Amino acid sequence: MSNITAPAYTSASILYANTDFSKLSWLETQWAAWYLWIDNPVIATGLMSFLLHEIVYFGRCLPWIAVDAIPYFRRWKLQPTKIPTAKEQWDCTKQVLFNHFTTELPAIWLFHPMAELFGLTTWQVPLPSWQTYVPQVLIFFVFEDIFHFYAHQALHWGPLYKHIHKIHHKYPAPFGLAAEYAHPAEVFILGAGTIIGPILYCAITGNLHIFTMYVWITLRLFQAVDAHSGYDFPWSLQHILPFWAGADHHDFHHMAFNNNFATSFRWCDRIAGTDDRYLAYKARVAAAKKAGLSMKELKDLEIKLMDEAEKEGLEAEKVCENYNYGSKTKVA
Ligand SMILES: [Zn+2]
Ligand SMILES: [Zn+2]
Repeated sequence: MSNITAPAYTSASILYANTDFSKLSWLETQWAAWYLWIDNPVIATGLMSFLLHEIVYFGRCLPWIAVDAIPYFRRWKLQPTKIPTAKEQWDCTKQVLFNHFTTELPAIWLFHPMAELFGLTTWQVPLPSWQTYVPQVLIFFVFEDIFHFYAHQALHWGPLYKHIHKIHHKYPAPFGLAAEYAHPAEVFILGAGTIIGPILYCAITGNLHIFTMYVWITLRLFQAVDAHSGYDFPWSLQHILPFWAGADHHDFHHMAFNNNFATSFRWCDRIAGTDDRYLAYKARVAAAKKAGLSMKELKDLEIKLMDEAEKEGLEAEKVCENYNYGSKTKVA
């Protein structure tokens, strides 16, 4: 990778003056062409980052909107009695777009100079090999999961819940678009887990290309949207990787409120015991399946168990919202 460092305003044609384009892959040539076309590395990076976020987020939501519209898929819906309406999806989209332009756009533009200070490379080619970016992305996944586990629990503390996190809990049965349906402060707080890992990594090793960030952001958005999809298919990732959280894990958080705080993995909640009600719920459903009930009886029982979990969740939410500031205790 080139070691040339240049002020942000340097023309791209000067940045690439010593680059041998014949040795670049197709993707690397496109990468350089983008920077040469925009001819301002700061604008080129900011624009590419924002566009990537919008295209990946809404692109990943589209299949879930289609799945919600096709009754065939209801058999795999985690809370089958709750299908999002078109109005709910549109209201959610408006809030998400508001967040993207007011919170994420400035955050993306802030991230770039901050990361460059620590040695992040952007316009440089060649791009990192998979042997370089795969371990980096895995580190970011683990860091974000642990950060999110603690920050998310903090957001369930009465005052923070009431003023910030309650918005994200509007939907007890989430859907893909609801992944980033949240108060702007929450987008900022939980988004920090996504970017602090790479910034720290860059500060320690001095070796991070923004291309790796794009791989990371893409996978992280896939994870977030899928976790809110509301569907658990037999081919969902958690059935292949048992430590992967997936929709099954996070859907229960929205339904039952006080369990399953992590994002990507099941480890943190298992170690902390914050998946006890989730495990008990799954055990009751599994026992019912083994008891030889008819399909209808099983379905009715599952709906009954869900109603109970949701009722308990609503009570837990009420306790959380009625947090007594003076005595530092929670009151029902
Ligand atoms: Zn929550
Ligand atoms: Zn959620």
